[in-house]
Amino acid sequence: MTQAEKSAQQGAAAPETFDSLDPRTGEVLSSYPVHDAAQVRNAVRQAGEAADWWAGLGFAGRRRQLGAWRKLLVARLDEIAELVSAETGKPADDARLELVLTIDHLAWAARNAQRVLGRRKVSSGVLMSNQSATLAYPPFGVIGVIGPWNYPVFTPMGSIGYALAAGNAVVFKPSEYTPGVGRLLAETFAEAVDTDLPVFTVVTGLGETGAALCRAGVGKLAFTGSTATGKRVMASCAENLTPVLIECGGKDPLLVDADADLAAAADAAVWGGMANAGQTCVGVERVYVLEEVADEFLAKVAAKAGGLRVGGEPSADFGPMTMPSQVDVVAGQLRDALDKGARGLVGGTDSVRAPYVSPVVLTDVPEDSTAITQETFGPMLAVNRVVDIEDAIARANATSFGLGASVFSAKRGARIAARLRCGMVAVNGVITFTGVPALPFGGVGDSGFGRIHGDDGLREFARAQAVTRQRFPAPIPVTSFARGERAMPRLLKLVRTLYGR
Ligand code: NDP
Repeated sequence: MTQAEKSAQQGAAAPETFDSLDPRTGEVLSSYPVHDAAQVRNAVRQAGEAADWWAGLGFAGRRRQLGAWRKLLVARLDEIAELVSAETGKPADDARLELVLTIDHLAWAARNAQRVLGRRKVSSGVLMSNQSATLAYPPFGVIGVIGPWNYPVFTPMGSIGYALAAGNAVVFKPSEYTPGVGRLLAETFAEAVDTDLPVFTVVTGLGETGAALCRAGVGKLAFTGSTATGKRVMASCAENLTPVLIECGGKDPLLVDADADLAAAADAAVWGGMANAGQTCVGVERVYVLEEVADEFLAKVAAKAGGLRVGGEPSADFGPMTMPSQVDVVAGQLRDALDKGARGLVGGTDSVRAPYVSPVVLTDVPEDSTAITQETFGPMLAVNRVVDIEDAIARANATSFGLGASVFSAKRGARIAARLRCGMVAVNGVITFTGVPALPFGGVGDSGFGRIHGDDGLREFARAQAVTRQRFPAPIPVTSFARGERAMPRLLKLVRTLYGR
């Protein structure tokens, strides 16, 4: 239960501050203000003023400023990773990996913004050949970003870095579990850029602060989090017709074909399912393996998952569940699956010892159990046998989510990938698409809509602006009350000649 929910349940007023905790120890790391609606509106208003200066820098100016920030993030990588580790409980190297990917994306966004968003000529077409037509993507002004706690740098930066590169100011509301990371990101930005203006600021608080950001008059709101909260965010944004980008959860499948490299597939399934304690939106949650190779594959998965070290020490393979209430979600899905007839291959109900959950691998999991139908967000894999690849594809697609997927196949990986209903697919790999900045990231269905990363991710934070400029008078002038009797017959003759045959 979040602090906001606890307050609501106790009938208490929202607190003025809240604590961020180390989930490994329960130790209070720091206290942060709960910003109210007036403070959030004020932050957005001030960001609006800063946005004019930032947009006025142009692409080259922003590229220089973002380059300075990128260098500072590299210089302070270990310090930031340490805070990520403290607020989420993840091993330091996982936190470092998150930063490495973020820095690569930031460099790409700054380098490519002009190519993608800068004004360019487009064909004006036959009918309007007297016009010169151009298209540009100016920024919205201020982007509100609401982020989750599981990758508190990489995930929100997929919006923040791209929104800034597109010329917007940003007001960011980090998760209540990782406010310190959010604040440190804004502090490093302020230190690196040549201005005191609040181009990138952070507001802290609980769900209500996020809701206030939705209503604060931002040009667009980028949300990453659960599907349930995503719907609430959309409803709040709808009040002012504020456009939204919604990145929600997933139930990603991994398909193992009969000719797959089984060792690689097992390694990917275990890493994709268990890394970051399974708290990855594009983590592997379901595996569909062809019957003829299932026993060999399951043996490899069991050996790998059974050997993982779970704990708070730096050498652990993964740490605790960051959000206490998620432990109950995992335990509930595990019980439901076992009650319905699933078999435990690795771990079982005693794997759940809050705040840790040790690896759980289930097999023969009924497709109607919550371990298959709902997001688990914990280190639990459901591995089911399928009769053929058609069966695997049908089951992979039989979910309301559609975020990512993996396919292991020697010969037909690309063909299988093309038939999966989701935003990203890794063939003979897992989660690899997140590390390619040129590739857009996002889902369909309950996984949300809109894209971060890549050209699409830059355009997401800009509005298309079309301009036509007359070069010479129209050869057939029809858009004037003085067009005369001959103009329309001439135009119709032209259209019949061009398109009527
Ligand atoms: P939540 O939906 O609980 O929260 C996300 C953010 O929304 C938090 O900052 C939260 O604040 C805020 N929030 C809560 N209530 C409201 C509200 N009414 N209005 C506006 N904002 C609100 O998600 P989690 O933080 O638990 O993150 C985990 C989820 O994120 C998983 O479902 C995961 O799959 C998904 N995710 C999706 C990714 C993607 O790119 N598709 C990437 C990473 C994660 P507070 O924390 O203070 O309550």
